[in-house]
Amino acid sequence: MALRLPRDALAPLLVLLLVAVAVHATDATPRLEMVTSAAPGGGVVRELAPRRGDQQHPGLFRQDCAVVAREATAYTEGLELAGDGREAWVFDVDDTTLTNLPYYADTGFGAEPYNATYFEEYVANATAPALPEVLELYEKLLALGIKVVFITGRHDYEREPTVKNLRSAGYHTWEKLVLKPSSLGSSVVPYKSGERQKLVDAGYRIVGNMGDQWSDLVGAPEGDRTFKVPDPMYYVA
Ligand SMILES: [Mg+2]
Repeated sequence: MALRLPRDALAPLLVLLLVAVAVHATDATPRLEMVTSAAPGGGVVRELAPRRGDQQHPGLFRQDCAVVAREATAYTEGLELAGDGREAWVFDVDDTTLTNLPYYADTGFGAEPYNATYFEEYVANATAPALPEVLELYEKLLALGIKVVFITGRHDYEREPTVKNLRSAGYHTWEKLVLKPSSLGSSVVPYKSGERQKLVDAGYRIVGNMGDQWSDLVGAPEGDRTFKVPDPMYYVA
């Protein structure tokens, strides 16, 4: 049976509906925040955490990262490894091994336009924390004897702060750290797939490839298996 409302009840209901839609549309509060706490051995830890009081989507980003990392870990545990030092895992850097959420927290989580100058300062400061789930996977790979190769869209002139940041975040060992030559254009896929091809040509078998952008992963040789880390902030073609 159809619900019938008095005609003069419709106007207030319509107003309430419009207010509800407007409140929902303007609720742009980020669901993640950077939390600073004291490290056990001294110093300071900055890490991602669900927004305080956010009961609706507690830690979804971290949960999604954990799902991908668990899948990758299970995959590595099932590999039949030759152990010849030629099995490699390729990682992207920004928002894969390191998270740039501190930068985004400082710039309103996308509310402010991307600021290349400020982002370069942020990279130079070398303070980006690790994505904890990816750092755990990294340790697992090393324990299995798989070589780690970082292929990043960061430029070659950013090598020093990138090395410093990877080490301070816990990535202490790697086979190669490939940064993009400043002479190259902005196209990601030819650069990253080309660098993977160089690895294969040098005798490496890429058993896994992980990045936060599809452009980190597509383009032959992709590797035996690819893993996409969630990125709630941006898309790079
Ligand atoms: Mg990235």
